[in-house]
Amino acid sequence: MPQIDDVIAKVKSLDKDQPEFIQAVTEVLTTLKPTEEKHPEFVKAKIYERIVEPDRVIMFRVVWEDDKGEVNVNRGFRVQFNNAIGPYKGGLRFHPSVNLGIIKFLGFEQIFKNSLTTLPMGGGKGGSDFDPKGKSDREVMRFTYAFMRELFRHIGPDIDVPAGDIGVGAREIGFMYGYYKKIVNEHTGVLTGKGLEYGGSLIRPEATGYGLIYFTSEMLATRGMDLANKVIAVSGSGNVAQYAVEKAIQLGGKVITLSDSNGTIVDEEGIDAGKLAFVMELKNVKRGRIREYVNQYPRARYFEGKSVWDVIRDEGFRVDIALPCATQNEIDASHANALVKSGVVAVAEGANMPSNLEAIDIFRENRVLYGPAKAANAGGVAVSGLEMSQNSMRLQWSREEVDNRLRDIMNKIHKTCLEAAEAYGHPGDYLFGANIGGFIKVAKAMLAYGI
Ligand code: GLU
Repeated sequence: MPQIDDVIAKVKSLDKDQPEFIQAVTEVLTTLKPTEEKHPEFVKAKIYERIVEPDRVIMFRVVWEDDKGEVNVNRGFRVQFNNAIGPYKGGLRFHPSVNLGIIKFLGFEQIFKNSLTTLPMGGGKGGSDFDPKGKSDREVMRFTYAFMRELFRHIGPDIDVPAGDIGVGAREIGFMYGYYKKIVNEHTGVLTGKGLEYGGSLIRPEATGYGLIYFTSEMLATRGMDLANKVIAVSGSGNVAQYAVEKAIQLGGKVITLSDSNGTIVDEEGIDAGKLAFVMELKNVKRGRIREYVNQYPRARYFEGKSVWDVIRDEGFRVDIALPCATQNEIDASHANALVKSGVVAVAEGANMPSNLEAIDIFRENRVLYGPAKAANAGGVAVSGLEMSQNSMRLQWSREEVDNRLRDIMNKIHKTCLEAAEAYGHPGDYLFGANIGGFIKVAKAMLAYGI
């Protein structure tokens, strides 16, 4: 008896107030239908019903004092979703939009993404509705200490290993790792994305962006194409976007857009290495806004209040490749139709769930090479896994060693997607391939443990 439709209905009714979680569950479970027929043992053990329930949800209050001496209260979350194949692993997001449904969707996606990397990592995610924008370093320090004061008791190098995500970068990881080390009195690999001086891995900052481009190149190769001379639209301007641009231009691509939550810049001459260095300094050191790009490079244009995809839709820019690297649901049906009209060949997701369900269908119906997030952006967590390996071995690999392993993992993920898609009756469909390819290993492990 098929089970999947009932499970989706159950989630829709129990988690009404969690639209992002419902969206992720609907997308994943719908594509797992071919596995129901081949694996009656999964149905019998109710794996589909079990996998949408987190192992546990931890919610806590975070109280901290700002520079004016005022007391602030935020919400903290850690969802330990599934540890069938390894310790819980996944980032922490600090952003005012964060709520339980968003952390659950991210943690759910992380189960399959981490499985695809081939490394032994379970799925988890956490964060807070704290907004780092406009906060001083000392405020961020006080907040992260307060956050870790509660989180520390739930995590550990063999239990749950958090990392960064939106709003959590090297600065935040440094504060949190330092505080954890102080209270637990152990130098462990409890977080990834650490600084190189204290257990971090080379290539970790670059990993998600580089991995995205390696995956995109593999997809293009199936149609005999590569990145050279392709016009590329990138959204976002944070860590993922920056290193995606770096690798894309190294491979001869022409990147024409970047954005933040205020607006979008379009540089039709292409963002070269020098311009990218300016963006990195602007965002990572000065913590400024992307609109400042046009002060430096006046031939570029700035569109206030518009996303990259709004600009492509409204102004009719032509793009060959779209790399959404900002946030969830940035691409809707109107954007997807505009991209198809502009002749887009490939869409690869650097952000988590940047395309809504209708947009995904439009890409697939129009034979656009669509690389879903859990495959295309898995390079970040993959190198986090390699950081854990290096910490366990008490050594540090060279840049070249880590980059080669990253490339190898992205190639394997691409291969797994195509093989799973073929084996389960949807040849060439990366959405089916990524979901099924990530699911099977987790389901088999869950089965092995009994109930
Ligand atoms: N936040 C990243 C992701 O969405 C990385 C997680 C990690 O390195 O643990 O996969």
